Amino acid sequence: MQLRSYSENDVRGKKVLVRADLNVPLKSGAVSDETRIAASLPNIIKLHEFGALISVVSHLGRPRGEPKPELRMEPVALALERLLIAQNCGINTVTYVPDCTGTAVEEAIAAQSPDTVVMLENSRFYPGETKNDAEFARQLAQPFEVFVNDAFGTAHRAHASTVGVAEHLPAFAGPLMLREVEALSRITEHPAKPFVVVLGGKKVSDKLPLLQNLCGRADRVLVGGAMVFTLARALGLSVGKSLVEERHIDACRDIVADYNESATKLVLPEDVTVTDDIESPANIANRRLAEIEDREMGVDIGEMTRDAFALQLSDAATIFWNGPMGVFEHKPFDAGTIAVAEAIAANPEAYSVVGGGESVEALNKLGFAASISHISTGGGASLEFVGGLELPGLKTLAV
Ligand code: ADP
Ligand code: MG
Repeated sequence: MQLRSYSENDVRGKKVLVRADLNVPLKSGAVSDETRIAASLPNIIKLHEFGALISVVSHLGRPRGEPKPELRMEPVALALERLLIAQNCGINTVTYVPDCTGTAVEEAIAAQSPDTVVMLENSRFYPGETKNDAEFARQLAQPFEVFVNDAFGTAHRAHASTVGVAEHLPAFAGPLMLREVEALSRITEHPAKPFVVVLGGKKVSDKLPLLQNLCGRADRVLVGGAMVFTLARALGLSVGKSLVEERHIDACRDIVADYNESATKLVLPEDVTVTDDIESPANIANRRLAEIEDREMGVDIGEMTRDAFALQLSDAATIFWNGPMGVFEHKPFDAGTIAVAEAIAANPEAYSVVGGGESVEALNKLGFAASISHISTGGGASLEFVGGLELPGLKTLAV
C-alpha cells in the first residue's frame, strides 16, 4: 500500500490541520505517559521546517460526544509545548483553543505566527466526530488549506477528523503513518519466509479476522493466551475454569478446519500453566492441554510449549506478534511472554513486528522493546491491517 506524503511545496505558507494520535493517559489532570506526544514531534517539526502554519487535532479518552472538563486538551498542549521547546526546533508556544470549529479557532489561526502551534479541543467532545458527520467535518476543515493525518492508531475508524476532513482538503500521510504502513506492509505483502506469527491475548473474538487472514499466508501460527481455550473447546477438550468464549467455539472449529486444509501450520500449546486463582495463586501446576482439571484455569503457556515456540521462532525470517502468552501482569504468569520475547531477541536476523496495546506494554515492562524491528503504535489499527481489513483512514491517503 502506497500513501501520499507531503513535500515542501504542498505545505509552505499553508494553514495545515494535523490529525495526531495524542490519546495519552492522564493522572490527576496531567499527562502520565508522553510516548504518543513524543511520537508526533517529527511530523510537526518537519511541517514547521517546511514553513507551514500548524494546528493539531486529536481525540482523548471517551467523552462520548460531549465536553468533559477532565478530558480537555489543555494538559496535552502544555506537554507538547514543553517537548517542542526541548527540541530547539523554533516552535516555542502551543496555543490551546477550547473548541474544534468556529470563531475561537478562526481567531487563533488568524493571530498565529510561524513559531506557534495551535491545539484544538478534544475532537470527541462533538457527537459528529465518531459519526463522521458531514457538516462537522466541513466545519473542522473550513479554516485550513491542507490536511496531514499522522494518527495511525485511529486509521481503522471512519471519523470526521480522520476521514471526513479529507474530503474537503488535499490530504497527506505524516511520517509516523508512513512508517507504520511500510512496516506492516512487510508483514502483509511478500513476507520473507519462514513467516511465523505468534498470537495470544484475551479474546479470540478480537483476533478472528487475523486468524482467518493469516491462514495460507503465514508458515506457522503459534497460539498462546486465553485464545487457546476456545480453540481447545472447538477440538473437544475440556479446559476447566479457563477463559472461553462459548459463542465463538463454532467459528474456531471452522478456523481449525481451514488451517488443516492449508499450508499454514496452526500450533497450539502442548502444555499450559494452570492455577486456582490468578490474584492469590495457592496452587500452580504445569498441565498437558488435554488434562486441565475442572477447578483449574490456564494462565500461561507451559514449560514444554515455551521451548517449542522458541524453536519455531529460531529460523523465522519474518515474525508478527500480537497478544501476551499469559496473564503477564501477574508473576510468574509472565514466563511464557518472556520466553517468546527472548526467542525473538535471539533471532536478530528476522524482521519482527509487534502490535497490540497489552503486547507493547508487556514488551516495555519486560525490557525487550529494543530487540523488536518495529513496534506498532496502533493497537486495533495494526490488527485490522494485518487482518486484511480496509482501513478507512488510509484509503483517503492512498496514492
Ligand atoms: P493486545 O492488547 O496486545 O492485543 P489483548 O488485549 O488481546 O492483547 O490481551 C491482553 C490480555 O490478555 C492481558 O491483559 C492478559 O492478562 C490477558 N491474558 C493472556 N492470557 C490469558 C489467559 N490465559 N487467561 C486470561 N487472560 C489472559
Ligand atoms: Mg488489549
